[in-house]
Amino acid sequence: MDWEIVMGLEVHVELATKTKIFCSCSTEFGGAPNTHCCPVCTGMPGTLPILNKQVLEYAVRAGLALNCDITRYNKFDRKNYFYPDLPKAYQISQLYLPFAQNGHVDLKTKSGKDVTIRIHEIHMEEDAGKLVHSMFGDATYPDYNRCGVPLIEIVSEPDFRETEEVIAYLAKLKSTFEYLGISDCKMEQGSMRADVNLSVRPKGSKEFGTRTEMKNINSFKSIERAIAFESKRQIALLESGERVIQETRRWDENKGKTFAMRSKENAQDYRYFPEPDIPPVSISEEEIQHYIDICPEFADAKANRYISDFGLSEEDAGIIAGSKYFAQLFEKTVELCGDPSEVRYWFMTQILYFMNERNVQPEDIKLAPEKFAQFVNIVKAGRINKQVGKTVFENMFFGDENFDIEKFIKDNELEQVDDTELIEKTVQNIISANPKAVEQYKSGQTKITGFFIGQVMKQLKGKANPASVGKAVNNALENLKED
Ligand code: ADP
Ligand code: MG
Ligand code: ZN
Repeated sequence: MDWEIVMGLEVHVELATKTKIFCSCSTEFGGAPNTHCCPVCTGMPGTLPILNKQVLEYAVRAGLALNCDITRYNKFDRKNYFYPDLPKAYQISQLYLPFAQNGHVDLKTKSGKDVTIRIHEIHMEEDAGKLVHSMFGDATYPDYNRCGVPLIEIVSEPDFRETEEVIAYLAKLKSTFEYLGISDCKMEQGSMRADVNLSVRPKGSKEFGTRTEMKNINSFKSIERAIAFESKRQIALLESGERVIQETRRWDENKGKTFAMRSKENAQDYRYFPEPDIPPVSISEEEIQHYIDICPEFADAKANRYISDFGLSEEDAGIIAGSKYFAQLFEKTVELCGDPSEVRYWFMTQILYFMNERNVQPEDIKLAPEKFAQFVNIVKAGRINKQVGKTVFENMFFGDENFDIEKFIKDNELEQVDDTELIEKTVQNIISANPKAVEQYKSGQTKITGFFIGQVMKQLKGKANPASVGKAVNNALENLKED
């Protein structure tokens, strides 16, 4: 039988406010355990939460960017559960009137398919603490620094059918929130966390199957593997006549498997009730209009502009515009050197190569646009050839801010050789030194020309102008034929 995978995502995003959602403790990542805490975020009796205005602003701007209706009058609710990562024994969240509903995200997947994912709702809530388990398995240490860090949870409709749609969706959320400046969305640090709800059904069936929920998978790669594993597991169960149990499962990255964690709770299990300590939140039309007015240019609009103004291909434009950090570097460098096609070339060949091969993240790029533009101008002036350019680019990219391109070229004698006399002399030397290859050429094997060009380039330490070398080699070989 042919099966179809159905998925819905719940994505938690930490908002990049300086202070927590209901108190003035720092949200900074990585402080010593339990140093960013106060009576409010550790849930001491008698304390009262106060909503951080910046959280509301960031949340509403996220909702608008994801095409949601903003609930003008929204409320907080208590979600009760006992677990050591939550000292209050309840989490302040939104159940009945979340601040945003009925949105959608338009995506283009890697294989070029257009997909729309509907957003059911987005709500604000506070994060829980972290439990650090001792290496010896005999103790667990709670760290409450993360308690009360502001989150938005984006709940999609079950509209995903393929892994690449999930990946494209998460990439789009990351890019959108980066442009808004409301979160850094680092999956490895947990500032963006995705729970994948997954069920399978016979292809063509209208009804949904029973789903499982996979919690907090922390990289795109793990998400791909977890979906592949879990869908196969469910299909195997159904094909052998068993049934899927609705439950929460944990993805184990090392074992490459999911494991049952707990049976799925219902809303009733959490005994939700309206949060009595926080008054309802109302959002005015002026505020909403203001947030619309200050909305930045997002990836899709940018990509279209790169295609029409700079002549980029759809694919290249999508990649560069997909990251705020790429886009800033690209646009500024183009502005400084005026040559989008040359900047694109170095971007796509060098920078993307470093991203993949050396796992560099866009936000970690240190290269200044001024330096990049200076480099492009040097290449365009013919002072170094493209091959040498790659070496210079790599050293510049990984060098510090004091890296001096001119000095590097001078110290390493990389300046392009375009001295016709020297090139012609070298060609003659190579021809004399390779009589066998000359015979092959004369007998009609013209492909051997490449060998001569390679030898000449090598002799000139890769620094010669490739066009001049090609011309000189061809001329010299033509002349041989006439003898
Ligand atoms: P809960 O409140 O119990 O977490 P929801 O109905 O809000 O459940 O759904 C949570 C997530 O699961 C949503 O993203 C939704 O799209 C997804 N989902 C619901 N039903 C299915 C299903 N049968 N298969 C896959 N995903 C589903
Ligand atoms: Mg849920
Ligand atoms: Zn606090």
